[in-house]
Amino acid sequence: MSWSERQRAMLREMGIPAFWPVPPSAPAEDVPMVAAAVADVAPIAPAPAPTPTPTPPLARPARPEVKPPVSIAAAATAGIQAILRERPEGIDQMDWPTLRQAVSGCTACGLCESRKQTVFGVGHQHASVMIIGEAPDEQEDSQGEPFVGRAGQLLDRMLSPIGLTRADADANSQVFIANVLKCRPPGDRNPLPAEVAQCEPYLMRQIALVKPRIIIAMGRFAAQSLLKTSEPIGRLRGRLHDLQGTPVIVTYHPAYLLRNPVDKGLVWDDLCRVREQLNQPT
Ligand code: SF4
Repeated sequence: MSWSERQRAMLREMGIPAFWPVPPSAPAEDVPMVAAAVADVAPIAPAPAPTPTPTPPLARPARPEVKPPVSIAAAATAGIQAILRERPEGIDQMDWPTLRQAVSGCTACGLCESRKQTVFGVGHQHASVMIIGEAPDEQEDSQGEPFVGRAGQLLDRMLSPIGLTRADADANSQVFIANVLKCRPPGDRNPLPAEVAQCEPYLMRQIALVKPRIIIAMGRFAAQSLLKTSEPIGRLRGRLHDLQGTPVIVTYHPAYLLRNPVDKGLVWDDLCRVREQLNQPT
């Protein structure tokens, strides 16, 4: 597979060297794609000296997501009882303003008690691409917007080379971003299944209103929640899934990539699949 200037630009944006040691005679376009997945673990410069028996770079199998250190609160999740209350009726019929208002005043689970504010989601209301993360963290809870901070900045750099943005633009370029959960679990503990189930109708209504051409599920939790599976993310990525007729691509969360930059090449691969999907005639 040859690399276009856009693909090389994408690698640069994601912090991946856009080349693997290349024989002087070989044009850059002949570099195999697998190089991207391993380039960021190799020294960038100078190029390694030739050895008598050079070992070609090999594709690494997809690795299961490494979970961050478990907080005390997360460790106690198993012993926490979900507090559930009545949810507003008719969520599946709500328009955008009504839905936003319903979320902002929602007290349907115990997460409402510790949140600073709900994190509804941002972006184009008819975006071609919808990005779904897991639950607000402390920064998102403070700012009321998903994917902020360093992870958000990395997300921006990941989207740019495939022609996507969260800034104001048309529906083909501007994404819509939301989380599975609209309120932050205290201490960033793992959400309880009952909390996810209680919040799910809001996300489903958002998807129905946006009608994206493709959904990107970022992170293990978002992917497993959306696809109703316990398969590890390493086995979920690399193929198209279906959510009520909408194609879904699974990839790693930017926060995970900040801890595991070696996997940026895999995410690049996933984003190329998104671009390919968008390039298909509608
Ligand atoms: S997490 Fe969802 S269901 Fe729970 S209070 Fe927040 S908006 Fe309501």
